[in-house]
Amino acid sequence: MNKQIYLAFINGHFPPDWKNLATDLRHCLPFTFEILSLKVNLRLFHSADRHQYHSTLLLGHLLKNLPEQGEKIIGITDVDIYIPILTFLFGEAQLNGRGAVVSTYRLNTVFYGLPRNDKLLYDRTLKEIMHELGHTFGLVHCADFECVMNSSTYVENIDLKQAFFCQSCQDKMGITCDKRTT
Ligand SMILES: [Zn+2]
Ligand SMILES: [Zn+2]
Repeated sequence: MNKQIYLAFINGHFPPDWKNLATDLRHCLPFTFEILSLKVNLRLFHSADRHQYHSTLLLGHLLKNLPEQGEKIIGITDVDIYIPILTFLFGEAQLNGRGAVVSTYRLNTVFYGLPRNDKLLYDRTLKEIMHELGHTFGLVHCADFECVMNSSTYVENIDLKQAFFCQSCQDKMGITCDKRTT
């Protein structure tokens, strides 16, 4: 099984060391991760009323950009995303599907008026990618607050989670995680 999962950096100015996401994801997810740099006309998904970008429409656009040999695509954007019934989202995924999107906008300490913290932003983004990918593999939210599939309302919830699927979630996905040492 050699499923390719594409990490699509959308119009972003993401730090070069974020390429390590591909390696760090492999600790839990036995797939080939390919980094894509994707140019998207985000204006198409912009809401002038909300000053945010419509997540589901962006996700639909990403799926059109999934390369033929690809199994899944997860977009990473630094703009603020939403769906009509929610104020904001950290990410959105198709349950048992092929696409997901993650926004780093509210994962960034700078959004909360705090000093920039690149390491924390990286770790939060890694967890959020794992979480959304978990949904694409059919996982729903998990009650274990340390499991990456625990739901996050606030960014602090993400900090409590580990970049790790609990044993029960691993079993459901049929994977084995190496505990990531940081
Ligand atoms: Zn979720
Ligand atoms: Zn779990």
